[in-house]
Amino acid sequence: MPKPSAAHEGAGQVRTDGVAVNRVDAEALLRWYQETARDLPWRRAEVSAWQILMSEIMLQQTPVVRVEPIWREWVARWPVPSAMATSSQAEVLRAWGKLGYPRRALRLHECARVLAEQHDDEVPADVEVLLGLPGVGAYTARAVACFAYGQRVPVVDTNVRRVVARAVHGRAEAGNPSSRDLPETEALLPRQIDRAAMFSAALMELGATVCTARTPDCARCPLPKCAWVAAGRPVSEVVKRTQKYEGTDRQARGRLLDVLRDASGPVERIRLDIAWTRDPGQRDRALDSLLIDGLIEQTADGLFALAGEGGQPEG
Ligand code: SF4
Repeated sequence: MPKPSAAHEGAGQVRTDGVAVNRVDAEALLRWYQETARDLPWRRAEVSAWQILMSEIMLQQTPVVRVEPIWREWVARWPVPSAMATSSQAEVLRAWGKLGYPRRALRLHECARVLAEQHDDEVPADVEVLLGLPGVGAYTARAVACFAYGQRVPVVDTNVRRVVARAVHGRAEAGNPSSRDLPETEALLPRQIDRAAMFSAALMELGATVCTARTPDCARCPLPKCAWVAAGRPVSEVVKRTQKYEGTDRQARGRLLDVLRDASGPVERIRLDIAWTRDPGQRDRALDSLLIDGLIEQTADGLFALAGEGGQPEG
């Protein structure tokens, strides 16, 4: 990892869209990152852009500790996009296990096919081209451009938005995503390209490990100036709803999908009915939504199967 060596990019002010905001002290942040960053496997030099893309898709909405073992399996099993493209949708869904939000797995499978067929089995480096890939949105495209190709692009996830809201704007919470997030974060990046890429990783790391949503550990924070602390830590006016999982449609979908993942082929409806008995209406809704999302399918004789295993050609 290169050392931060450029002239001090300190805590002055920077203008974005005509609005003056505080800078983040890049020198202090980069030094901290180099000394304390977690040794995550997808951050190592030998990891390919495809493997970084897989990690980014998995890490959306799923914690590192759950992603890491699955990611390692996937890297060994599907080291390049064409390897995944030759696997079936059902194989990918089974390997996804319980990471949650399994549509991500289907989109990644589709993405692998496009990369294998249209991009010489490589992940493109250009943000606009990345944005055209299945399942790749604004965050993922820039994360790949930055972390795999070292580009100077703003990478804005929930953690980054929270750190910027506090350190730069003096607000306890980031609020809703806005079109200003990208230009504001871009304006904070150091000019030197290699420092900018590391700065993006460091900002994200700070939000994930120190400036956390519930309990920011300001005593461990490397930033010498923070607008939120300077303002006396004003409390958030946003009323947070805690997301429950127990009893939700999401949980019902997960149970039904578990049945099909554990089966070696199509199953009868009764197997699904007994997997979720607490609310038959909810079960029907969950089943319909899985069919609509293309995660499961029905065979000609009315059995249910994982995508691609129902005897119909994969779409
Ligand atoms: S001082 Fe505290 S609130 Fe400010 S950026 Fe650091 S951890 Fe977050």
